Amino acid sequence: MEQRTIAAIATPLGEGSIATVRISGQDAPQVVDRIFKSVSGKKVASLAGYTALYGSVYSGEKIIDNAVVLNFKAPKSYTGENVVEISVHGGRIVIKNVLRAALDAGAFLAEPGEFTKRAFLNGKLDLVEAEAVMGIISAHSKAELDLSFSSLSGKVSSQINNIKEKLLEAAASIAFFADYPDEELPELNNQNFYKMLTSAHQSLNDMLSNFDAGKILREGVDTAIVGKPNVGKSTLMNLLSHKNRSIVTEIAGTTRDIIEDTVMVGDIMLNLADTAGIHKTDDVVESVGVKLAEEKKNTAQLILAVFDLSRPLDDNDLELLNSIKGKNAIVVLNKTDISGNVPQGVFDGFKTVLVSAKNGLGEQELIKAIAEITKVSSINPDSAVLGSERQRGCALRARDAISAAINALEIGTTIDAVGVCIDDALAALYELTGERATNTVTNEIFKRFCVGK
Ligand code: GDP
Repeated sequence: MEQRTIAAIATPLGEGSIATVRISGQDAPQVVDRIFKSVSGKKVASLAGYTALYGSVYSGEKIIDNAVVLNFKAPKSYTGENVVEISVHGGRIVIKNVLRAALDAGAFLAEPGEFTKRAFLNGKLDLVEAEAVMGIISAHSKAELDLSFSSLSGKVSSQINNIKEKLLEAAASIAFFADYPDEELPELNNQNFYKMLTSAHQSLNDMLSNFDAGKILREGVDTAIVGKPNVGKSTLMNLLSHKNRSIVTEIAGTTRDIIEDTVMVGDIMLNLADTAGIHKTDDVVESVGVKLAEEKKNTAQLILAVFDLSRPLDDNDLELLNSIKGKNAIVVLNKTDISGNVPQGVFDGFKTVLVSAKNGLGEQELIKAIAEITKVSSINPDSAVLGSERQRGCALRARDAISAAINALEIGTTIDAVGVCIDDALAALYELTGERATNTVTNEIFKRFCVGK
């Protein structure tokens, strides 16, 4: 199907050294030839791919700016179509004027993600790789960028494709058996068939088990700093955020509201909340803060429970410790610059870190503990990490269908029943990589992209 030619600003709007309008579609060179005159007199439409021209972009008879035009010929371009990029000086007005000129010359304004959607429709990327493009653009840390880049380079897709191939082989054997039931089909009866299913199951399980850690890298962790008044919660918040966000005083109960900040701790983004000191109080205002702190503690994905090592633990401390048992929590033993004596036995079974929030002692150990507890440190850089809830949902469906196939084999049901499960698994995997994703699914994915990508 011939697509209309689209145009959009491909660089961030603002002041910069260059800004680019990208134009994609059959007529992209002709559109550009209507608004651009090269110094050499050459036309874009007559240019070879991967070549550039220098000249000026025009709005009617008036020059908008000097420009470099870069030509990509179908199918060797990002979208697989003819693509021309016009780069001018990086200013908001100049680039908007170039876009306006391209639209006046016959291009249509691109929808969000339309360039990448065309790349997908033209077989340049599968859906997993397209989602990885978005991951690269929005990466907050090097680790997150590495994951998205390895997904864009085909790590996830090739692993999924391997599983698909195995399942297809199995499905073909089953179909053959259905057509020629009297033929010998050793692979249906011997261990190979079973082994193949269990290995596909294992691969999907490995990918799924990395998902939560990958999600943490992408989305961050809601983290509550809790503890009784004056143990150093606000000081810890300020240490982790490297700024004086929370008010630190010796007066207990200073933090009554919840103070929130987003900070990068190593590779992980923490959505930190410094809460009011959790303790018994008759002060009406303070008790509202304590209630909020309790709520935050109950809903947070990670709790940093702070205790003051320079003073004996009291009932408030012990109650807090009891309330975080079994939760995703790190016990932060603070004020080690005054005292390093850890009471015997009390913190057994908890992940503990000794720090001095005031002078930064133990910060690296705390960062390491956070990476361990969130399992981010256990992500194998060579493993395939699923990049979205959509991918996870498909992988789960495929894994469960393979489980059902294994189960059917074990209890000796008909081979047809095994075949149905394998078909279900294949359908889920085809949806994952996009061969059988519905329009609604693909539209949903691409509309989350920015215009121009
Ligand atoms: P919060 O009520 O738990 O938020 O406690 P703050 O962060 O406001 O700290 C209470 C007091 O303890 C302040 O005077 C801080 O300067 C002090 N403090 C916090 N952390 C440390 C630490 O690591 N060492 C020492 N010596 N004092 C600290």
